[in-house]
Amino acid sequence: MAFYGEEEQSEDYLFKIVLIGDSAVGKSNLLARFARDEFYSNSKSTIGVEFQTQRMDIDGKEIKAQIWDTAGQERFRAVTSAYYRGAVGALVVYDISRRQTFDSIGRWLNELHTHSDMNVVTILVGNKTDLKDAREVSTDEGRALAEAQGLFFMETSALDSSNVAAAFQTVVKEIYRILSRKVF
Ligand code: GDP
Ligand code: MG
Repeated sequence: MAFYGEEEQSEDYLFKIVLIGDSAVGKSNLLARFARDEFYSNSKSTIGVEFQTQRMDIDGKEIKAQIWDTAGQERFRAVTSAYYRGAVGALVVYDISRRQTFDSIGRWLNELHTHSDMNVVTILVGNKTDLKDAREVSTDEGRALAEAQGLFFMETSALDSSNVAAAFQTVVKEIYRILSRKVF
């Protein structure tokens, strides 16, 4: 087992990835959908989960993504520095049907950069695309913010599974790409 940048004989990689964003944007459900193909219509998915390790295959290499969930700490604006420590990837999530959660993204990015390496591979995720009639943040606005901040961007739905795996894979592939470039 090796953390980012430290390759061992096993050629086994473990990347810590954090989920951040306002309460109820769907962080826990994105993880539940990705790791277990489950969805919860209430917030019980948040309770107790600290992280989940998901095996992924990238370029024939087995990679373990250790994906951290806030376990509700964000409700009190009290995500600890330990949560961010060692993270090499981040999904910064808002809810396309609640503009307020999009307006918070700058604060989450500041917090991420305060507590982790500036080079943390980050994707901006607009979740709940299934709520078409309730949309308050356009795709173009999301993409523009991502471009301005140098982030990847994707819109997802944990409810109907749209782009969920793709969002996690985008981050993991990019971390792996940076890592393999450093090796050569
Ligand atoms: P968290 O606080 O960011 O972890 O958010 P949760 O994953 O607990 O989700 C908050 C609420 O939003 C729950 O009622 C979920 O069922 C709901 N939710 C999460 N993702 C989606 C989605 O993609 N579409 C819809 N319609 N609801 C979602
Ligand atoms: Mg949660």
